[in-house]
Amino acid sequence: MTPADSKTIPQRSDIEDKYKWNLTDLYESDAEWEKDYKKAQEMLTKAKGFTDRLADSPAILFDCLTLRSDVSLICDNLHFYAKRNADLDHRVSKYQSMTDRAAMLISQAGAAFSFVEPELLQIDDKQLKEMAEHFPERTLYDFYIKELIRSREHIRSAEIEELLAQSILMARGPSSVFTMLNDADMKYPSIKDKDGREVRITKQRYAKFMESPVQRVRRDAHESLFSSYKEHINTIGASLSASINTDVFYSRARRYESSLHQALDAINVPVEVYHSLLDTTEKNLEGLHKWIELRRKILKLDKIYPYDLVCPLFPEENYEVSYEDAVKEVTQAVESLGKDYTSNLKKAFESNWVDVYETEGKASGAYSSSNYSSHPVVLMNYNDTIDNMFTLAHEMGHCLHSFYSNKMQPYPKAQYTIFVAEVASTLNEGLLLQHLLKKVTDDKKKLFLLNQHIDNTFGTYFNQVMYARFELMIHEEVERGGALSPDRLNEIWNELTKKYYGPALSIDDYIKYKWARIPHFYYTYYVYQYSTSYAASQAILEKFLKGEEGIVEKYLQLLSSGGSDYPINQLKTCGVDMTTAAPFEATIKLFEEQVNEVERLGL
Ligand SMILES: [Zn+2]
Repeated sequence: MTPADSKTIPQRSDIEDKYKWNLTDLYESDAEWEKDYKKAQEMLTKAKGFTDRLADSPAILFDCLTLRSDVSLICDNLHFYAKRNADLDHRVSKYQSMTDRAAMLISQAGAAFSFVEPELLQIDDKQLKEMAEHFPERTLYDFYIKELIRSREHIRSAEIEELLAQSILMARGPSSVFTMLNDADMKYPSIKDKDGREVRITKQRYAKFMESPVQRVRRDAHESLFSSYKEHINTIGASLSASINTDVFYSRARRYESSLHQALDAINVPVEVYHSLLDTTEKNLEGLHKWIELRRKILKLDKIYPYDLVCPLFPEENYEVSYEDAVKEVTQAVESLGKDYTSNLKKAFESNWVDVYETEGKASGAYSSSNYSSHPVVLMNYNDTIDNMFTLAHEMGHCLHSFYSNKMQPYPKAQYTIFVAEVASTLNEGLLLQHLLKKVTDDKKKLFLLNQHIDNTFGTYFNQVMYARFELMIHEEVERGGALSPDRLNEIWNELTKKYYGPALSIDDYIKYKWARIPHFYYTYYVYQYSTSYAASQAILEKFLKGEEGIVEKYLQLLSSGGSDYPINQLKTCGVDMTTAAPFEATIKLFEEQVNEVERLGL
């Protein structure tokens, strides 16, 4: 559909080395990988020597935790190297089978050390703390022990725990039924594209058609997709309802106040944060309502429908950016993060941490991935668009976050949570936007850029808050003893759509089925984290824009903290308190300012 589709895709050998990542910094050759594989296998055999001995002495416990950590580190390296190589060309089976072997080893390691937590939970808190204080290195596992003690409150008797462990496979039923239906069995009717050609709708094509400049095409694609969900709505309703019942069952089995309490307790986020996110946003929806109406005017539509919410507003203002230029812009954009950050970013660009271009068989999309022993890497399929430049800024944010965490934290405390991960990435996007806005003189280009950011806030913040509200409502309905019929789910979705998007949006007959296509609702309170991280990054962005004193040091401290503390505490180091409404208000305020600016320039 785009010129890129018709281009022939280059082979890896056609690409200059400077655009390829270097994985030999981790393993010089596959033979070195094999050596480490053997070493990990041998180490694993030592695990069973520790069973029933963990309470014997601090030294024994420390040695066992260290063995587990050392094995895990090697397993990570093995998997990283195999998977990253496999992603360079999916047609090569060698690295796929190495990836499978690494995954197998990881599961063997999990099984070999599965005795550790149950055994430690037999030891009482006081003794456990005392043992940890006598570890040869006290700061290595202190957070782990603290977490173990925190989890104890919700651990049941051995008999109940055994039963709960056995129920896990059963509990996955609803989500696998949905995945099969959604990804394999469901088909969507054909529509006519803008030139009148008959095209069968797939999920990918639906996404493309949503960007069509022709409203009729967008509507047809929307109706095609959702007519299939309508046809299967009883099945999907039953699977989602069963999934919610599962969440409620486990939260009760583990004696939590609610399923929300259980989900947030996993990373020690107070439920007030969740409520504050929803309530603050819902008190401040005028900006979003205004934005929908403004879209209608800019698109010159009589009525704006749900299928008109993602098509580009200023497509003619899009321009090409070469990779070299994108690197330059991103590097300049993050200068306010300080010399240290900028020089490490330069190092990443100059030392083959990024695999830049699409080649035949390469994994699609973009990601950042890290290992503890060497540097992180970024996979791109860079194709000279502004979108791609923002993706580069985003992934380099993850990449540098991993770099700092791995450099400053011991391995057991290096891995950060999703709650903080998206802060580092979306902050860089925000800085890039501000940098570009400062440079443009042409109002139309400025409009295009502002719209990028508005779309980000719309998709990553507002939409996800609405999804989070939906998730809360349906869990609470079940917790109150109610039942979730498909009609009830449709009704809730319709109400929320009207509330969030406001009076300008015309509701069609199909939007009420949208909940039925969202797989995240099977992940139990997952989506709110998109909004909370986004809000945290906007709050930090504001501090950088204001030039707040000390913010550079504080931000590097956040990036360096890995997984050594709870996310809420980590964000507090940057002066962002997620237990208050401030970060959400800052996000909405920036959004409103940008909407007003678009209104001023665009009409
Ligand atoms: Zn990300």
